[in-house]
Amino acid sequence: MMNQTGGAFGGDWQALLRDGVARSASDIHLFSDAHCPTVRWRVHGHLTDAVAIKPSDFHRLVSGLKLHANMDIATSLIPQDGYLEVPDGNCHARVGSLPTLYGEDLVIRLIPNQTRGIHELGFSPDITHCLTRWCERRSGLMVLTGPTGSGKSSTLMALLSQMVKVHRRMVISLEDPVEHVVTGVRQSPIHPPTGYTYATGLRAVLRLDPDVIVVGELRDAETARLTVEAAYTGHLVLSTLHTDSVTHTLTRLTQLGVASYWLERVMAGILSQQLVPIPCTQCEGGCPTCQGLGITGRRATGELLDVPQGASLAGFPTTIGPSLTWIQPSPTG
Ligand SMILES: [Zn+2]
Repeated sequence: MMNQTGGAFGGDWQALLRDGVARSASDIHLFSDAHCPTVRWRVHGHLTDAVAIKPSDFHRLVSGLKLHANMDIATSLIPQDGYLEVPDGNCHARVGSLPTLYGEDLVIRLIPNQTRGIHELGFSPDITHCLTRWCERRSGLMVLTGPTGSGKSSTLMALLSQMVKVHRRMVISLEDPVEHVVTGVRQSPIHPPTGYTYATGLRAVLRLDPDVIVVGELRDAETARLTVEAAYTGHLVLSTLHTDSVTHTLTRLTQLGVASYWLERVMAGILSQQLVPIPCTQCEGGCPTCQGLGITGRRATGELLDVPQGASLAGFPTTIGPSLTWIQPSPTG
């Protein structure tokens, strides 16, 4: 059965992508190998078993994908990045290559074109309610946090989409790279190798009359300082961090050189999120409906700190003022 599945797309790269979409895969991995090339899919966070493909098909897939993703097909000796639209798939793909001992591997990330709404992310009603209210804010700093693959980008895009569509805000977003395209948002791909960093982008964006500014990731002290200053001067600023809780987010910002004095004045909210599996209702451990995975998807859960306009973060987490809302994960997730 596995070999049948593997052979379904042959050397047709478009069929490979359509097959990935049909499997609800977030990533397709093509492995060159000493003996036989293989393909694996990441579905709902799980990597499937390897499926063997013919070496001739493998080479056709790799060349086809590299060509259509505007990568240099003449070389397989350096890592490359590319981008392409998935035919009829309502999604696009980022393609990354890596030279290996046996040739060249490709990883294809499938990214939906459609942004999900705040209500479609799977958060509990109280967090969904807070996120909806965040979209009305005019100033302050909101930080989304969580490990890689925790769904931060989807949440960020849902918030931006609501701000643009419902509240008619002018949103400028600095990203590295731009993955999800959001209609109505000015998305600017920063490019540190050429000197276009988050810091230089922020200085430029402040002159362009934004209501809402997105700083893709708080990576260094200068970016953190400029971000906090922008939030203090009457803009709503959203950013992301790699931490695992609300309190660790504050610690991390302090480590990046942001004085607690500033944090207390600008912080509007922190969401620390992760994705949890949705068990398959048709089986216990694997059936055709769930592709044998036992789960049919994932939903977002997490911890949220809401600091309404005029309220202060001072004393948190020792003192939690009556105006602060701190939603912590329930034991059931
Ligand atoms: Zn099942």
